[in-house]
Amino acid sequence: MTPAIYLLKGREKSLKRKHPWIFSGAIKNVQGEPKLGETIDVYSNDGKWLAKAAYSPKSQIRARVWSFKNKEINKSFFISRFEDALLLRKDIIVRDGLTGFRLVAGESDSLPGITIDKYQSFLVCQFLSAGAEYLKDTIIEALITIFPDCNIYERSDVSIRKKEGLEECTGVLHGEQPPNSIVIEENGIKIAVDIKTGHKTGFYLDQRDSRKQAMKYVRDKEVLNCFSYTGGFGLYSMKGGAARVINADVSQPALDLAKSNAELNNFDVSKKKAVFLNADVFKLLREYREQGTKFDVVIMDPPKFVSSKNNLTSGANGYKDINMLAMQILKPGGTLLTYSCSGLMSADLFQKVIADAALDSGRKVKFIERFEQAADHPTDSAYPEGFYLKGFACKVL
Ligand code: SAH
Repeated sequence: MTPAIYLLKGREKSLKRKHPWIFSGAIKNVQGEPKLGETIDVYSNDGKWLAKAAYSPKSQIRARVWSFKNKEINKSFFISRFEDALLLRKDIIVRDGLTGFRLVAGESDSLPGITIDKYQSFLVCQFLSAGAEYLKDTIIEALITIFPDCNIYERSDVSIRKKEGLEECTGVLHGEQPPNSIVIEENGIKIAVDIKTGHKTGFYLDQRDSRKQAMKYVRDKEVLNCFSYTGGFGLYSMKGGAARVINADVSQPALDLAKSNAELNNFDVSKKKAVFLNADVFKLLREYREQGTKFDVVIMDPPKFVSSKNNLTSGANGYKDINMLAMQILKPGGTLLTYSCSGLMSADLFQKVIADAALDSGRKVKFIERFEQAADHPTDSAYPEGFYLKGFACKVL
């Protein structure tokens, strides 16, 4: 018999709205002895069947719903979910000319704990929940059925696996060893991605739409691209006709790749057009302020500053600080393109933080455009938490 959980009275409400998470505090009792990640049935207090879910005994999110339909969670279940994921991205892949994109975005694709990015023939997977780990072999079989010529590589080297009682792991799951770099294309720009050692699964696919939007602000401008990683916004700025782009990051391998990405696109990488600067952005901005160096455009795409509710205030202060500095080194009429990938910071709060930065900078700031995560990172109507990346274009006087 399939193990099961019974919920406390009234705690089925979120499931009725198709939200996939069941917190430990909502559970009345567990029937049977489900293993780490095993598929269980979920019942309401009065015994009504609600969902098939994956059991996560180590996590506060005690179960994640695979399906609200009473069918087996097997290879054909995953094939059908992957087909849905492809279907909803089909137009976007063609529109943006993508050979690298997010195929599966976890809960947002009704596949809790599974992230899959496709770089050419390489599928890079992160299995972030006990349930995803438990069904890994089935998931791989389903992927091979849909993409018979694919190679599958695992990048489950993420600390949140600990909360699920899982070790971090990486390596080939199917097919060939990945090469050191795989060249993908988006919006006509070529980008080499190192899926073995790059951040996340190798590249920040989620900023693609914002990178494209950034192009319209940079023609003939002096651009400072903070937290450049492997080029991202810098490459789009060069394509958009920037007079000069300074890319700043603390990772030398990322900067080296940024430069070779610029060369790959035949952009002019002479010092008068492009600089790849190994620098701590916090220090660099202060130095520019002291020196009186000014830019037409500052791009501010930092790593996640808010990792839990406990550090929301300190994270918000971090965003305020760097954005204040960015405003202070902009010429009058300059543009700040600023982003936050902290899901726990709402777009409203981020706007308030930018407003506080404006006050502290002593500059007048106008919001002129809003951005969000790229279209292959959708937000499911039942799972608003899937929306995490937001940004603004601001004019600074
Ligand atoms: N804008 C990029 C993604 C940025 S990811 C894109 O579109 O692809 C964040 C980057 O910040 C990483 O490359 C990391 O190396 C860098 N980083 C983190 N802390 C930093 C610091 N204090 N100064 C400079 N770079 C930093």
